[in-house]
Amino acid sequence: MQQHGDQYIGGEWRPSLGTESVPVLNPATEQVIASVPAGTREDVDAAVAAARAAARSWGATTPELRLDHLTRLRDGLAARQAEIAETVVAELGCPIGFATSVQAALPLGVAHSYLNILAEYEFSEQVGNSIVYAEPAGVVAAITPWNYPLHQIVAKVVPAIAAGCTVVLKPAEDTPLVARLFAQIVHEAGFPAGVFNLVTGIGAVAGAALAAHPDVDLVSFTGSTAVGRSIAETAGGGIKRVALELGGKSANVVLPGADLGRAVNVNVGNVFANSGQTCSAWTRLLVHQDQYEEAVAIAAKAAAKYVPGDPTAAETRLGPVVNARQRDRVRRYIETAVGEGARVVAGGPEAPEGLPVGFYVRPTVLADVTPDATVAQEEIFGPVLSIIAYRDEAHALEIANGTDYGLAGGVWAADNETAAAFARGMDAGQIDINGGRFNPLAPFGGYKGSGVGRELGRHGLEEFLQPKSLQF
Ligand code: NAD
Repeated sequence: MQQHGDQYIGGEWRPSLGTESVPVLNPATEQVIASVPAGTREDVDAAVAAARAAARSWGATTPELRLDHLTRLRDGLAARQAEIAETVVAELGCPIGFATSVQAALPLGVAHSYLNILAEYEFSEQVGNSIVYAEPAGVVAAITPWNYPLHQIVAKVVPAIAAGCTVVLKPAEDTPLVARLFAQIVHEAGFPAGVFNLVTGIGAVAGAALAAHPDVDLVSFTGSTAVGRSIAETAGGGIKRVALELGGKSANVVLPGADLGRAVNVNVGNVFANSGQTCSAWTRLLVHQDQYEEAVAIAAKAAAKYVPGDPTAAETRLGPVVNARQRDRVRRYIETAVGEGARVVAGGPEAPEGLPVGFYVRPTVLADVTPDATVAQEEIFGPVLSIIAYRDEAHALEIANGTDYGLAGGVWAADNETAAAFARGMDAGQIDINGGRFNPLAPFGGYKGSGVGRELGRHGLEEFLQPKSLQF
């Protein structure tokens, strides 16, 4: 077992100033595989001081110099793809195939995308008698969750550094090992001391101290709505900028005339990927009442192909969920759904057969879910799909928009124009038309309760910039 006692602060690994540690569990074996320091307020102070000390000089570097460093960072991510995937399998329980193709490859793609964006970005423009400069926002606190642990780190840290900001990262308790690996890659890329700092620890201690720190200029947070709200409140008091990427309850709307089989099959794959632990997952499938039973049958058949199992095996499509708390929560939601009248057509709340160890849940499809049912309103963060019937397009739109969230969605129709017209009415930040694939250059973020701000692409870079105008 690896027992780590250090934090990455000011360009070096330093002993943590606290004595407590956080155990890291393998969700498939329930074994403790490592421990990392539970960072203290003093660790956070040291990391923010290092970031502050580096902020002015890093902020004054040329984009070309930042590009050189970020190119080495990208190369480091490329060189460590296998190690990244294995680490995410061990601490998240994500199947090795998905870990390789998404958990390791996506952050590499995103890091690569920022090389092009940075090379082309105009950091100043003439507006009448003014020159408007895009200056770095300053010291950034990045607080990340465990579900796409490296992607969420890269989606914040890389554009922040590209913008000329310095960063203190507090990764999720469950997945600190890939964050430590990222810190090593940053170190090997030769960034000046203090540009990137890592403090592992408990959210309520290290995370809260970082989010409230008076010397932090911008807090970029991804995680639960409850924590996002408290971070926004604290940041408001401190006049800090915040970017929040919170949860979702995204709707996939299948309009009459669409390819129902494809739409339902893609939806099942979408919800079961990463054991349903995806903020943008289409957890509500909306189908016309005349096609309802057909859609339910297709979904049940598709779900049968997802058998939970050992995430290290190449053929496994569904691993455990991240921890015991999450497993219990997902099962409770399924029980609640049944109590509210839903029909279980695949899976269910019971433990999956033949898996006495590991935080496994049965991939579940629920039919006869009403739009206001608990499972149709609250984020479950597990492999659970709710199928909801609608009467007509207006009803479908009302249901799609009828939650507190507004992160993502899908629309399927006989043609792209019809689907796009429907999507324009949806209160959500990114919507896939007839199965349009994920685009890492497109802005990612939520309407309504799903958050504030956008990540990825040019929009993601601009989150970390602030304008300054000089008049002549
Ligand atoms: P969380 O919001 O508690 O944790 C996310 C990050 O915030 C972690 O790094 C955590 O240490 C930190 N944190 C926790 N409390 C904090 C505080 N008071 N101040 C500052 N930082 C703090 O999320 P979770 O408990 O890991 O997951 C709970 C639920 O959140 C999930 O079931 C899911 O619904 C949702 N979630 C959403 C996303 C997403 O991508 N939008 C990701 C993970 C979890």
